[in-house]
Amino acid sequence: MTVAAVIVAGGSGLRAGGERPKQYQLIGGRPVIWWTCRAFLEHPAVSHVQAVIGEGHEAMFAAATEGLDLILPVIGGQTRQESCRIGIEAVARHEPSKVLIHDAARPFVSASLIEEVIGWLDRFQAVVPGMPVAETLKFAPGGIVSRTVDRSSIWAAQTPQGFHYAEILAAYRKAEAERTQGLTDDASVAEHAGIEISMIPGQIENRKLTTADDIVIADRDMMGRQLQNLPDIRVGQGIDIHPFEPGEFVTLCGVNIPYAQRLKGHSDADAALHALTDAILGTIGEGDIGTHFPPSDPQWKGAASRIFLAKAMELLEARRGLIANIDITILAEAPKIAPHVAAMKACLSPLLHLDPSRIAIKATTMEKLGAIGRKEGIMAFATVTVRLP
Ligand code: MG
Repeated sequence: MTVAAVIVAGGSGLRAGGERPKQYQLIGGRPVIWWTCRAFLEHPAVSHVQAVIGEGHEAMFAAATEGLDLILPVIGGQTRQESCRIGIEAVARHEPSKVLIHDAARPFVSASLIEEVIGWLDRFQAVVPGMPVAETLKFAPGGIVSRTVDRSSIWAAQTPQGFHYAEILAAYRKAEAERTQGLTDDASVAEHAGIEISMIPGQIENRKLTTADDIVIADRDMMGRQLQNLPDIRVGQGIDIHPFEPGEFVTLCGVNIPYAQRLKGHSDADAALHALTDAILGTIGEGDIGTHFPPSDPQWKGAASRIFLAKAMELLEARRGLIANIDITILAEAPKIAPHVAAMKACLSPLLHLDPSRIAIKATTMEKLGAIGRKEGIMAFATVTVRLP
């Protein structure tokens, strides 16, 4: 039996504000859609995860889901109904027997709910999780109450909604052929095709993120959940120094700062990233940069130091650890570092999967004392806290 999951992420998500659609905003250091896709990828019963994305979101999606074993996304249509149909058609070649259709904006979907929906499909034609409605419902056309609605049979529908693949495919094709529009969820399409849909209890945390406030609260919740399961607290430190040589800019924390010198080294000589990488490796006892990238190896000549950082993150993530905060101090008589700190944080945040509020980058001069004080080079210190299971 093959179960496919279709993740619907075509919306522009403008109600949540921000520079990008809500499904690409960060919660717990990762884009919303990363959490959503991973929930399905990690579920042993789900064999394929197919995302349906908005036109022009290709690069954003690729960056947001880097490292996840997803099949190539497809581009959605003008409406949710159209996007779902495209996603369902796209998984046909994997010949799934069941399909789950899920909103990208519900990142808190649990393994147990996915399990329930798949399991109940053995008994039912279609399965929709939902929550009973607690508030009293008023029917008020034009804002004037005409009656109170009996809420005893009212459910607020969630996703994932589960279907037998051939049936929902046929239902979508039927709606398409009849040009029926405006069906807002998959169950409506199934209803329209006469499929019997069974409601099962949803989960309160499986809420849909809609507003800017939802994103803020979800960020806190997701970080809290992460930390809760990671009781092993480790601290690592790293120190690095590179001398100057003639050049046009120095690279620190991945940012090029115009200057009459550059830092001399085998790679791009980003002393701050080297100190940070060593600090992360230090938390898990994995040696230092030299262990993984020997300076004798010509392939690292002129390399961007983010490669080293990525390796340290890969080793940390292989242990299911995460960074809780970093604190970097750069010792430099010149150039001035402070004007570049915001750009440095913006560069590090996605590499570390860490909110900028958990990143500190400070700089100090040496009051003209010693080699750094004589402007012979730049030194950096990094301290990192990580959490491990
Ligand atoms: Mg170095």
